Amino acid sequence: MISVSQALDDIFSLAGVLDPELVPLSKASGRVLAKPAIALRNQPPFASSAMDGYALNADDAQAQTILNVVGESAAGHEYTGPLGPMECVRIFTGAPVPKGANCVIIQEDVDRSGDKITLNTNGHQGQNIRDLGIDFKVGFTIDAPRLLTSSDIMLLAAMNVSDVWVTKKPDVAIISTGDELVQPGETPNHDQIIASNALGLHALLELNGASPRILPIARDNENSLKSVLNLANSADLIVTIGGASVGDHDLVGSISKALGMQQKFYKVAMRPGKPLMAGTLGNSAMIGLPGNPVSSMVCGHIFMLPLIRKMLGLGQEPASTTPAKLLSPLQENGLREHYMRAHQSPSGVRVFSRQDSSLMNVLSDANCLIKRPPLDSARNIGDTVSIIKL
Ligand code: AMP
Ligand code: MG
Repeated sequence: MISVSQALDDIFSLAGVLDPELVPLSKASGRVLAKPAIALRNQPPFASSAMDGYALNADDAQAQTILNVVGESAAGHEYTGPLGPMECVRIFTGAPVPKGANCVIIQEDVDRSGDKITLNTNGHQGQNIRDLGIDFKVGFTIDAPRLLTSSDIMLLAAMNVSDVWVTKKPDVAIISTGDELVQPGETPNHDQIIASNALGLHALLELNGASPRILPIARDNENSLKSVLNLANSADLIVTIGGASVGDHDLVGSISKALGMQQKFYKVAMRPGKPLMAGTLGNSAMIGLPGNPVSSMVCGHIFMLPLIRKMLGLGQEPASTTPAKLLSPLQENGLREHYMRAHQSPSGVRVFSRQDSSLMNVLSDANCLIKRPPLDSARNIGDTVSIIKL
């Protein structure tokens, strides 16, 4: 049995970063920028007014000065006429500051009568003016890789970059295995259960930038498993669920090896999730997850998502941990790294008393896993532990 960190290194070795593709900005949120994006313009493209008011030369900006209003500059309607001493231009937010002006007095600080205004305040050079390019200038670059947020999309749009190169979404084929499984919505027999794990993993993958597809359930026989595995052969990653233990009906290892799977490892020193397997099948990476629902999801967080992030170009990092204070004690840990279902609140983290790897109800209430190294000593209330947010 290998350690979690060794298993993760082995899994990272199964695949590289995927190719880039060009997508319109409207489809780029949540994608990973694969090539730098370069601004094609300055923002703002001209010195612009930050307020509604009057643009004038700061030399004239003394209280009680009376100025002639000689024109108007509104957003999208620039004033191009002359502006001399003792003159001003009515101006609105976002409009270009006319040549000759270098100060904007807000309208609340002015009395207007016909075409004349009287200033009620002093002003200074640059007042209420956003200089050309204060946000960004031509050539400003957003570097890759970068997970694009909604704020990034807005910035890219302002840069007049309408399409961006992003890493292709990993195509992930999810295969449930088992004679006892039916798809959600079907009517199970007395001895059957719903294939729930595939949907959970599908959701996890979609939320993390992959493009998952659920293949038909493979039954516990050679022909069925082979034909479903063949449906997956163009995937970047094949994820099988169950059939990975050493029972008479656990065929995933032997059948995929018969199809040419190069196995990297089988069995990891962790709880839950010991019967984890990984390798390559053709050009696809393959992860064989344990069937127990909580085991499959925990292994999804600990192994599958880091590989997806690597494929997307986000580097080779394990699931990130943060420290948290214990609100309930923990017994000494055994030989395997333990990922305990727990709930974090502002006051700390509380472990659930029931840790059986079949309990989806507990996993659903958990918002984090407490990560415990092998042989971790007993922990008291108030001790600091490492958690992985779910
Ligand atoms: P196995 O590794 O195939 O022996 O499965 C271990 C346990 O997980 C068994 O109780 C299976 O019924 C259950 N199981 C396997 N695959 C799934 C799945 N896709 N959805 C829900 N439970 C599953
Ligand atoms: Mg099974």
